[in-house]
Amino acid sequence: MSDIEIAQKNEAEEMQPIVKVAATVGLTEDDLELYGKAKAKLSLPTLKRLQNQPQGKLVLVTSINPTPAGEGKSTVTIGLGDALRLRGKNAVIALREPSLGPVMGMKGGATGGGYAQVVPMEDINLHFTGDMHALTTTVDTLAALIDNHLQQGNALNLDPRRITWRRVLDINDRSLRHVVLGLGGATSGTPRESEFDITVASELMAVLCLASDLADLKARIAKIVIGYTYDRQPVTVGDLQVTGAIAMLLKDAIKPNLVQTLAHTPTLIHGGPFANIAHGCNSVIATRAALALGDIAITEAGFGADLGGEKFMDIKTPVLGKHPDAVVIVATVRALKYNGGVKLADLTAENREALATGFANLRRHIANMKRYGVPVVVAINAFTSDTEAELSDLKALCEASGATAVEADVWARGGEGGLALADAVTAALSQPADFTPLYDPAASVKDKIATIVTQIYGGGGVVYDHKADLALRTIAKNGWADLPICMAKTQYSLSDDPKKLGAPTGFTIHVRDIVPRLGAGFLVVMTGDVLTMPGLPKHPAALDMDVSADGVISGLF
Ligand code: ADP
Repeated sequence: MSDIEIAQKNEAEEMQPIVKVAATVGLTEDDLELYGKAKAKLSLPTLKRLQNQPQGKLVLVTSINPTPAGEGKSTVTIGLGDALRLRGKNAVIALREPSLGPVMGMKGGATGGGYAQVVPMEDINLHFTGDMHALTTTVDTLAALIDNHLQQGNALNLDPRRITWRRVLDINDRSLRHVVLGLGGATSGTPRESEFDITVASELMAVLCLASDLADLKARIAKIVIGYTYDRQPVTVGDLQVTGAIAMLLKDAIKPNLVQTLAHTPTLIHGGPFANIAHGCNSVIATRAALALGDIAITEAGFGADLGGEKFMDIKTPVLGKHPDAVVIVATVRALKYNGGVKLADLTAENREALATGFANLRRHIANMKRYGVPVVVAINAFTSDTEAELSDLKALCEASGATAVEADVWARGGEGGLALADAVTAALSQPADFTPLYDPAASVKDKIATIVTQIYGGGGVVYDHKADLALRTIAKNGWADLPICMAKTQYSLSDDPKKLGAPTGFTIHVRDIVPRLGAGFLVVMTGDVLTMPGLPKHPAALDMDVSADGVISGLF
């Protein structure tokens, strides 16, 4: 059965009312704002109450550098939650919200797969509770207010050529990457060049995900730099006097959404920044709620441990005020063979040599995560094409690198297939963690970038384009240099070249630009050719989708 068929059967036969799922973690109907029977948001007073409750242990799920299909981080995160519940632990899952970009494009949704999924999967992957739309509209409202400010006399002296706030859409639309606004004469605005991003790359998404509550959300929104004046002074949302309106539009989007896995494990799904072009972690508010509701909270950060994993440790952890107590690195035999040079079409054939070569990628990620001082477990996400010989080679290679490796068969068997992983994670959680961040935010911007490039990526150095050097000057002049770094980089390679697979060394990272995100509280470092508005592939997933006259969806995945 396909993912959607498994989900639809569960939704029809087994899915519980969300009120019942909420009750298993002590929440009553008063704590919930219901969106139909199967989805709810947690209310603001409830979130406030949960902030003061004791916190459980935190498990971070990350992965090796993936193939274009994804390697099953969400699947393993969900299966691990179900398995821990089977072992009698009070586990709560916290995931990111899917973006329509990958859903309609190539990668698929973010609701897991096989027998490790969250439901109702169609709703979650499509419009869910409207958070993405609220964000899109809010970003674009701010853009409209900026252009109206130009139109109405430009009291702030904004330079139309230096407006950095961009409009967004939650879909891959390459034709909007570069646009000219305001054509059509004096009544239709001030002509200027601009760009569109995908919603999940917007600073407002990062702000929503890093805010601790509505007051903090407002404070962060006020600080967002939207552009510069003719004499190069930064202009903020606060200067534009629209902080209240912008925060107001997010009053519901700030509340985490509660759903369930196929096995009824409570799952919070909230916030969805991509990890290649943003910080890649679900919201701090949802993670805190999961830590308060569960004895073990399991969360996931996007793409490989070089992206979401590093950003979780150096951007999210300081804001969350809690570091992971254990890290799970998801690896697949297929992706390691891919990293060992095998073509996508040949990944199902046994190839122990390529596996051994590609293992260098996992070895690097194990060492990287260990350097943060947190116990590491490798979850081998089992595919039917894996051979016994490959699996036993992989386990031996992991042991030799100092990490326990366990097979997770949650895609085929749900929680039952994740019991060994649950036991390994439970054992890891009982080990002491001695968390050490990678860099001191007070170090210079170039030093922080060099640390990430040499210590995490394995690179030899960094080169800066002229634009990046100019940005560094602006950052220094305005006193923004002590913010953490959010690297924008391809997810396929440890380098900034998607074709350099495995564990390359000695390469150079090319920095094109550095964008200050004062509201989010980090500096986005644009490397290589990474794009903040992706394009759709030759055969977008959309071509295979349909909805019947009865409203039954097919071909979602
Ligand atoms: P990630 O979170 O790493 O992007 P997902 O968990 O979303 O990956 O999985 C990506 C896709 O791969 C999903 O369609 C899922 O059904 C499929 N998948 C995951 N694990 C397996 C597996 N063990 N066997 C077959 N397909 C899998």
